[in-house]
Amino acid sequence: MRAARRLPARARARVASASTSARASRTSTRARDAMDVLQFPALEDNYGFAVRCRRTNAVALVDAPDARAIADALRDAGWGSPSMILCTHHHWDHVGACAAVRARFPGTRVTAPRREAEKIGDVDVAVGEGDAVTIGELRATVRETPGHTLGHVVYHFEEEKKVFVGDTMFALGCGRLFEGTPAMMWASMQKLLAMSDDTLVYCAHEYTQSNAKFALSVDPTNEALRARAREIDALRAKGEPTVPTTIGLERLTNPFCRPDSEGVQKGVNMLGSSDLAAVFGAVRSAKDNF
Ligand code: ZN
Ligand code: FE
Repeated sequence: MRAARRLPARARARVASASTSARASRTSTRARDAMDVLQFPALEDNYGFAVRCRRTNAVALVDAPDARAIADALRDAGWGSPSMILCTHHHWDHVGACAAVRARFPGTRVTAPRREAEKIGDVDVAVGEGDAVTIGELRATVRETPGHTLGHVVYHFEEEKKVFVGDTMFALGCGRLFEGTPAMMWASMQKLLAMSDDTLVYCAHEYTQSNAKFALSVDPTNEALRARAREIDALRAKGEPTVPTTIGLERLTNPFCRPDSEGVQKGVNMLGSSDLAAVFGAVRSAKDNF
């Protein structure tokens, strides 16, 4: 992370629900209607998220990048105080503001991956693979996705088809392997890719435009990717977010989700390889050196 430069979170926070999100599928609207997601920029290029159960008005934050951005976004949306922070991993741009959020909203409980609880500190609920987390009547399943960090978790709202992935998957990218191995991260990506194509993916950073440049360099003949890169440029030119994305879109366009494709294998000189974790690792190294 670079030094924090404050963005106008207030002006740009937005609430997405089944009725307002253009990307939301029009088919299972009932389940999606039970949940609102508030997305707002924080720090340099992070997104902060809050979720609300429409039936009970219970609110939870996903990560705590910046207490001020969080408080402003909740106030401007007219949402109540959060009762919980769902932490994805121990990096400061995700948990650095937990204490400040708790000071501002006393009683907020911190839920965090068991394997990183000590690093994060002051954790109320330590969670791991398969655990359920409830926010009012909403229910998320915790999935462990090691790779970026060893204890990284994502929160999957299965009914609502939404997943908060922290720094595991990005639109057209994936997190750097600070702690884990390529095989570990590829297994984590596959956990996400097992979710339905219409699952909305909330990534914690707006990295998409630079990710697109890299993706085109390894998979230049992918028509879906080329079309998406043009859409991304248009969105960013208007200052619009490219998050959330969907599992289906990543499956078609994200080189880190396609180590089995001819295009990506060619791009990293591994055509015909059956070792997908190795191809994935080669894509990751190519990106690190891009
Ligand atoms: Zn991180
Ligand atoms: Fe991060």
